Parts: sequence; C-alpha cells; structure tokens
Amino acid sequence: MNAKSGDKEDYSVPTPDPADIQNLVFANRILYKYGVVDGFGHVSLRHPQSPDHFLLSRNLAPDRVTADDIFIHNSSGEIVDATSATPYLERFLHSEIYKARPDVLAIVHSHANTVIPFGVVKQQPLRPLWHMAGFLEKDVPIFDIRDHAGDGTDLLITDTNLGAALASDMGDASVVLMRGHGATVVGKDIPEVCFRAVYTQLNADIQLKALALGDITYLTELEASAAAENIGGQVNRAWNLWCKEVDPGFEE
Ligand code: MN
Repeated sequence: MNAKSGDKEDYSVPTPDPADIQNLVFANRILYKYGVVDGFGHVSLRHPQSPDHFLLSRNLAPDRVTADDIFIHNSSGEIVDATSATPYLERFLHSEIYKARPDVLAIVHSHANTVIPFGVVKQQPLRPLWHMAGFLEKDVPIFDIRDHAGDGTDLLITDTNLGAALASDMGDASVVLMRGHGATVVGKDIPEVCFRAVYTQLNADIQLKALALGDITYLTELEASAAAENIGGQVNRAWNLWCKEVDPGFEE
C-alpha cells in the first residue's frame, strides 16, 4: 500500500466538487452498461482544481463504484487522501498520460474485446469508417510492451516507466491500442472520453463485420476531421441520455 496520507504537500489539495465526483461515478456505470469495461477497466478525471492530481476509484469493478470510492491520486499515481484504499494496479497509465498531455482532462482504460484484434494484427489498423468515430486517427497507434520491457511481462502498466512509455507511443492521438491487452482513450472531459470509448469499441465491431464483406471505403482524413468536429459538439446529447439510463432521477 503506497498511500501517502499525512504528506504535508498533499494537505493543500482542494476537495473536489461533488458534481465532478458524480460525473465520474456515472462514467463508471455508463462504460459498464455499454460494454467498454467489465469487471476490469477504469476511468479518471484530472482534478479540476489541482491539475497535478487526478480523481480515480479505488480498486473496484466499475459498476460498483460510488462517490465514496473516488480518491485523489498524485502525479506519481498514488492515493493521497486515504491510507486504507487499495489503488488500481494500472493507475500509472493515468498519471503519466496526464503528465505528458496537458490537453487531456479525462482518461478511460479498458480491455474492450472488439478492439483487441486491431492491436495484434499489424496489417489491419483500426480506422474510422463511420461519422461517429471521426476522432480516430488514420492509423491508431499500437503500444507493444515488449518494445519497452522485453518478453515475459504481465502486459500491465504497473509502474511509472511503463506509463511514460505508453504516453510516449500514444503521442497526440485520441486512442492508443495496447497489444494483447486493451486500449486507452483520452478526452477533454468526462462526456467526451466516454463518447470516444463507446464509439471506439463500436467502430472496431463494425470494422470487423465490414472486413468480412470485402474492401472497406474508410472516411478520408478530411471527412474524419469534419465529422469529429460536428459530432464532438453534440456529445452532451448522448451523455445526458446515458446519465438518465444509469440514474432515472438524473436531471440535466
Ligand atoms: Mn488493463
């Protein structure tokens, strides 16, 4: 257990806004409902009042996460506001991406099964083929842990060096596939990152089906960026629906 409760520096971290915590709880439920995460996977939010920290559940299946399970993590990936909470093993992918990408304010990591084939078949990159997934790059980067840590790892991002390697291979992309493991998706807020995680999984599913039919006409780069801009401005329509689905008492 690496929690650092009592660290002087950490007393200065502001208490997060309950509305931000609630959004993160909804995100956990929504990603489970839409099959992006199952018993595994996680979603985080950069602390809106303290950019060097981020908010992430303790080690728990996403659909079980409540507001009480969300803890403040520091830039080393450690929980600062509890001594007894067990953190996720792969919290370092969050801390290192936040460090490398000031534009990223929310992150989803999953083992979404439809994207796995595109992380292990180099000749068949995941590419946007419908307007809902214009945010995907022409060629989504693939992180191969063997390039950084050699053979025999457990494939997981269990330290800051591996987190930094993942962030580096991701570059400025929205999505990075992780060979034999899963995917990590970033966004400018919780609704956007959930939208991207859901539609990355759906684009992969549709691409697999289309590949069985024949050659695919993908979106061009211009179409992808135009579609991403248009749909990106309407993310809250889906987000408000999804919140209502996981909490019938939800009001916009
Ligand atoms: Mn994982």
